[in-house]
Amino acid sequence: MKEVRIMHEQPSKHNDTGTATGKGYVYIAGAGPGDPELLTMKAHRVLLEADVILYDDLVSPDLVDQYPAAEKIYTGKRKDSHHFEQDEINQEIVRHALKGKIVVRLKGGDPFIFGRGGEEIDTLRRQGIGYEIIPGITAAHGASAYTEIPLTMRKVSSSVSFCTGHPVSKIQVPDTDTIVYYMVASSVHDVLDMVAAKGRSGDTKVAVVQNATRYNQKTFTGTLDEFRKRERAVYSPALLIIGDNISQFIETSWYSRKKKVLMTGGDSKRYPGTDYIVVNFPCRRVAGADLDAVKATIEGIDDFSMLFFQNKSSVKYFFKYLFENGRDVRHLSHMTICTSGRAAAAELLTYGIIPDCCLEAEGSAGLGLTGLLSKEGLAQQHILLPCSGNVDESVAAELRDAGNRVTPLGVYVHEAQRQEDAVDLEFIDEIYFSSPGCVRNFRTLYGSIPDRIRVTPADDRTAEELQRQFGR
Ligand code: SAH
Repeated sequence: MKEVRIMHEQPSKHNDTGTATGKGYVYIAGAGPGDPELLTMKAHRVLLEADVILYDDLVSPDLVDQYPAAEKIYTGKRKDSHHFEQDEINQEIVRHALKGKIVVRLKGGDPFIFGRGGEEIDTLRRQGIGYEIIPGITAAHGASAYTEIPLTMRKVSSSVSFCTGHPVSKIQVPDTDTIVYYMVASSVHDVLDMVAAKGRSGDTKVAVVQNATRYNQKTFTGTLDEFRKRERAVYSPALLIIGDNISQFIETSWYSRKKKVLMTGGDSKRYPGTDYIVVNFPCRRVAGADLDAVKATIEGIDDFSMLFFQNKSSVKYFFKYLFENGRDVRHLSHMTICTSGRAAAAELLTYGIIPDCCLEAEGSAGLGLTGLLSKEGLAQQHILLPCSGNVDESVAAELRDAGNRVTPLGVYVHEAQRQEDAVDLEFIDEIYFSSPGCVRNFRTLYGSIPDRIRVTPADDRTAEELQRQFGR
């Protein structure tokens, strides 16, 4: 007889990794300079395998969020979180590794370029813990590619060096055609003074590239003399590039020509890669239901004749609770199952269910949900409507208007955005709103939308909410 095992708890994925010592394994990996697509395939693979991810300030939370299975530990310097000294980070890596975990230490750029990767492997060697190093695209390479400033160029620059601008006592001026300085947030002037003192001509070209490869990348250019006369400014994170290769820079680099679209949820595939940069404003939906209500509803599931899913999250969290309450798809076989929108239909398929109907609000010539339902002959139903806990009554109302009895069931909540995740709207050309909930979240965080920014609602209900909240 086949043995059936029920797993209540997620086991460590790697109890059987076979490390001879029984210790875990550590990957010291580079995440690249910002654009999440600049992650290597190898780093992506180990992040999928990770039990624990320890990540820095320069690594975007958006990137680590894509690996939901791992425990994440932020080791940067955000105000509301614990400040880790390097020793403490080393200890933390070791602690998890000794528990047999697969640990990914994820750093901005490359771990061996001003990344303190060397110190971390030193500790691992001493502890006899196995490790690998996965290189990343360093900020200098990201900035160079995304601003069209080649670091070497025939007849212009035949050597390049990477230096630090911090601390000021450590600033060096090597004799290379191009010099890239890291960590210059507050020391651009100190560096430039030393470069001039070393005898580089006042006409030497200079560029500061801030937030390289990110949606808010900004480049400032001038000559050595011009920069030295400018007011001191703080640029962070930023690189200072010095050398005549900068004459290749053009204001309209391939990257700056792209339109930046802020996506509040939804499917980024609707914005094709060559024209747009998609900036995520994760309108997070997280599990968060009244568990007693969910249990009672699932126990009484036979009373319903129809299940209606309005989005992907309602599918995802409904099934989470269905399984947790010991039921599966067979308990839904008596019901008509409908979705509004293809994303929810696609999610349903992953549970082995082809919806009886998929009501596509977009492009339905303004029929509205009520019209679509009656077109499909769906009335007199007792509908279970898994939805957000901060209930959006408009769908329930439309289903009722079509002559149905409706029971909304909160299976997730919209989580408020944190202030530090806020996107700088100065760089944004368009905002795509995927649901009324996202419009409200956006309103809470930003208050208003600058007139020059185009807004695109996903459907009629989102358009109405936009009108209500922003008059747009
Ligand atoms: N290991 C990293 C560097 C860490 S030191 C790498 O290889 O890129 C931190 C410095 O890196 C910052 O002060 C800044 O000078 C630079 N930096 C990192 N990301 C950057 C970015 N997106 N744009 C500009 N500079 C960046």
